[in-house]
Amino acid sequence: MTAFASAANAESSQGSATNVNTIENAANVLEQLISHLDTVIPEILENEGGVRRVPPASKEVVAKLPVITLTEEILAKLGSDAECAICKENLAAGDNMQELPCKHISSPCLKPWLDEHNSCPICRYELQTDDHDYESWKEREKGLKKREKVLKMLFVVVNTCMCNCVDHWSY
Ligand SMILES: [Zn+2]
Ligand SMILES: [Zn+2]
Repeated sequence: MTAFASAANAESSQGSATNVNTIENAANVLEQLISHLDTVIPEILENEGGVRRVPPASKEVVAKLPVITLTEEILAKLGSDAECAICKENLAAGDNMQELPCKHISSPCLKPWLDEHNSCPICRYELQTDDHDYESWKEREKGLKKREKVLKMLFVVVNTCMCNCVDHWSY
């Protein structure tokens, strides 16, 4: 972040009216970005490389999930072949379902599932966990993903010739 900021500042402080200078500056920024990538990429690899044990969903969060008792009406909406996403048993009226924040409802099998997993068995929506390490890792992952996106965008911008052609300026 700071390296990008200083690269961007260097760019704007040298800012000149002519296109040639702008392109030169852009090349400098690109160079600085590339050199910074050396530190960013191992950081990303390090984070994604290791197989991370995903902790179970927070007991407190699971306990607060709303419970819906399956009625014939809901069952009709789900379709006659509605089945448990976990054990594949057919659902029946009277089953107690729990509603996840992603709006998927799941059968009584959900509880034991969430004792071991932290995600919706249908769409993989992740519930909060009690594991602070995992939660802060997840936050960090999000930040890295964002940074990766910004980097990719910058590459596109810097790689574009000022006359908007693709011939004059390509790596
Ligand atoms: Zn089941
Ligand atoms: Zn879901």
